[in-house]
Amino acid sequence: MVDLVSQYSKIKGEIDNAIMNVIAEASFINGPAVKTFQKSFEEYLNVKHVIPCANGTDALQVALMALDLKPDDEIITTSFTFIATVEVIGLLKLTPVLVDVHPDTFNIDPEAVERAITAKTKAIIPVHLFGQSADIHAIIKIAQKHNLYIIEDTAQAIGADFTCPETGKTKKIGTFGHIGCTSFFPSKNLGAFGDGGAIFTNNDDLAEKMKMIVNHGMTVRYYHDEIGVNSRLDSIQAAILDIKLEYLDDYTKARQEAAAYYNNAFADHPKITTPVTGASTTHVFHQYTLVLNDVDREGLMQHLADKGIASAIYYPVPLHLQKAYLDPRYKEGDFPITERLSKSVISLPIHTELTPEIQKEITDAVLEFVDK
Ligand SMILES: *Cc1c(COP(=O)(O)O)cnc(C)c1O
Repeated sequence: MVDLVSQYSKIKGEIDNAIMNVIAEASFINGPAVKTFQKSFEEYLNVKHVIPCANGTDALQVALMALDLKPDDEIITTSFTFIATVEVIGLLKLTPVLVDVHPDTFNIDPEAVERAITAKTKAIIPVHLFGQSADIHAIIKIAQKHNLYIIEDTAQAIGADFTCPETGKTKKIGTFGHIGCTSFFPSKNLGAFGDGGAIFTNNDDLAEKMKMIVNHGMTVRYYHDEIGVNSRLDSIQAAILDIKLEYLDDYTKARQEAAAYYNNAFADHPKITTPVTGASTTHVFHQYTLVLNDVDREGLMQHLADKGIASAIYYPVPLHLQKAYLDPRYKEGDFPITERLSKSVISLPIHTELTPEIQKEITDAVLEFVDK
């Protein structure tokens, strides 16, 4: 689905140098490279505080830990996302409240969010799925009305912009809510060479608290004011990310061009719906996801695999039907759009190293099967 080897080979000199510097200094934990990357990322996002951490799942967990929530407080999120989003809610003994998504953008439906609010609701976690912003403007309105926190899960959409339809002001997504979270898992749009994550906020108090939580709940060494965790971005990853951040906008452009090629090849096909970009957001195409209409999906995947072409299903089982998350509050049929999408979506390879030649092979193979 991605080609990280070719991507690395183009910046090998710079990356190898940065890694060797960290090794030469033996500054593996909280070294200068972490601080440098933190500053670069704050500048890139135009946000006051970035708190690097060990991975995107920790970022979400630490964000929730910072909000002083009580067991059984309700957190509203989408039924169509990667498991990490609800996993951390469950781990903290909070109650995940799921809502369905918009059929075109696959992102959380703000009207459904508002319907799901109860006296116990404390926060909303919109996930900017596949590379574009959820309708964050509508979600902010709802959160303000009901006095709720917003934690944005930006693991799949780092670098995407959202333009406020009221003020016309454009900002990076992940900087609209109280807290934004992202992941540097290698296949994410800004990928490390291992695990990594970050939390961002413009709120000084939340930033202080989260800095403490990621570091065993301490600010002064061996004095622990909060129950924390050990969640660090290591210096080698930070040094790599600081270099890759310079290329992020080029990487985004390459992904957008690849998406445009696919869109064109599948345009107006009766059995294929190409990705729809929502109003006010850019799309950074973490995934390129088609909705199939009356196509044997398994057969198509096998046909592609036979030609050496990767494809994947994000996500085959909606959260409320996952074994570990079965809940008497929910049953099959409760989230019809999510359930339909989980049966009909397919994602094609999308990354920074695609060429029109490779893409032609992929689109020819898809069309050969779908049209047969
Ligand atoms: C990848 C991802 C995460 C978790 O990130 P990790 O770094 O793998 O822990 C969280 N949410 C979403 C939507 C993701 O895609």
